Amino acid sequence: MGAAGSSEPEQGALAPLKGPGTNFLPDASRARNWKSFLSTVGGALLGLEKALVAQNHLKQEQVVVMEKMPQLMEKEVMEWPPLPQFISLFLPEFPVQPLVGQRQLKILGFVAKGSFGTVLKVLDCRQEKVFAVKVVPKVEVLRRDSLKQCKEEVSIQKQVRHPFVHCLGDSWQGQHHLFIMCTYCSTGDLYTLWKSVGRFAEAVIRLFATELVLVLGYLHNLGIVHRDVKMENILLDERGHLKLTDFGLSRHLPWGKRAYTICGTLQYMAPEVLSGGPYAHSADWWSMGVLLFALANGKFPVAPEKDHVTMLESVKRCSYSIPFTLSLGLRLLLSELLCQDPLRRLRYPHHFRGHLFFRGMTFDAEMLQKQPVDFVLGLRRAKETTLDSAVFSDFDCDLISPLSHPWPS
Ligand code: ADP
Ligand code: MG
Repeated sequence: MGAAGSSEPEQGALAPLKGPGTNFLPDASRARNWKSFLSTVGGALLGLEKALVAQNHLKQEQVVVMEKMPQLMEKEVMEWPPLPQFISLFLPEFPVQPLVGQRQLKILGFVAKGSFGTVLKVLDCRQEKVFAVKVVPKVEVLRRDSLKQCKEEVSIQKQVRHPFVHCLGDSWQGQHHLFIMCTYCSTGDLYTLWKSVGRFAEAVIRLFATELVLVLGYLHNLGIVHRDVKMENILLDERGHLKLTDFGLSRHLPWGKRAYTICGTLQYMAPEVLSGGPYAHSADWWSMGVLLFALANGKFPVAPEKDHVTMLESVKRCSYSIPFTLSLGLRLLLSELLCQDPLRRLRYPHHFRGHLFFRGMTFDAEMLQKQPVDFVLGLRRAKETTLDSAVFSDFDCDLISPLSHPWPS
C-alpha cells in the first residue's frame, strides 16, 4: 500500500470484554422493566421482519466484505459480557435510557429491516411527534466487531448539521439494544421512488445532484467520508428535498490520509475501494456517479456481482455505456464521476459549480429548500391515496398488541 498517509485500522478493535468494570449498576427494577420490554419488542421485531420479507421489501444488502450478515437474533449468539460492561462499552455515545416516564414511545409501525437493525416508526407521546428509531442489537455490534464503527456513526451524526443531511434526534441504550432516533421522513427513500418511476427527468436529476454535491462537499470539508452513498440512504423530506442518512459506515478521514477497509454496497463501490485501497473522499463521488447514472437510465452502470473481486473485474472492464439520449452535460458529468482514476475524477465543489450540466443552477442550500419539489410531492400524493390503508393492514397480528402500549411500559 504505497499511499501517503496513515494506514490506521478502521474497524476499531473490539474493546476487551473483560477488564476493569465500572461503578455503574442499573437500578434492578428498571433492568427488569427493560428486560420484559425488550423481549416484547424483540418478538415484535422478529414478527415484523418476517412480514417484511414476505412482502419482498428487502433492498440491496449493504456489504462489509469478509463478514456474512447474520440475522437479527439474540438468543443463540454468544456469552454476553457482564451486565455493567455490556452497558459501559457503549458509553458515552449511547447513554442509558433516562428514567422511565421521561420518554414514552409508541411503536406505530415497521419502516425497514436494515443491514444491522430494524427501523421503526414511533410516536413520542410527550412531544407528540413522529420519529424513526433504528434498533440495533448490541450483541450483533460486538459479534461483527463493529463497536468503534457504531459509536462513530452516532458521533458523526451528532456533529453534522446541514439542510440536506438527516440529523440525529437522540441516541440511547437499553439492556440489549442500541437506539438511534431521527425525525421520520414521511416521503420515504429515493430507492422506493426510483423503483416506481424508473427514470427521472434531467431537471429532477440536476436538483438532486446539486443537493448531493452540497452535502458531500460539506461532509468532506469536515473530513468525513460517508462510504455508503446510495439511493436507500437518501430520504426525502416533506417538501421533496434530499436528506442523506445512514452514517453506519462513515468515518473521520482527515485530508491527506487514506482508508483501506473494503466497505459499502458493491454496486456503488469505487474501484479503489473494491481493491482494498488506498482510497479517500473521492470514493463518495464515484458512488454519486453510480446513483445519478441509475436515476437517468433506470439501471445501474455495472450489473451486481457476487463478491468484491468479481465486482472489481466488471468495473475495470468498464462495460457501461452512457446513452446518447442524455444531454451532453449529463453525459460529461457521468463520465467524469465514473472515472477509474480518483485523481482525475470530479471531486471538489468548484468542479460542479462550473460544470455544463449545472449551468444556471444555484448552489445556495437555503434557496433550493424554499422551492418544493413538485415532481416528488405529486408522486407522494398519488401513492398516499392508493396505498395508505394497505400498509397497516399488512402488519403481523402479533405486533398489534404490544404496540398499543406506551413504550416503555
Ligand atoms: P441501515 O444501516 O440498516 O441501512 P438505515 O439508517 O439506512 O439503516 O435505515 C434503513 C432504511 O430505513 C432506509 O433505507 C430507509 O428506507 C428507512 N429509514 C431510515 N431512517 C428513516 C427515517 N428517519 N424516516 C423514514 N425512513 C427511514
Ligand atoms: Mg442504510
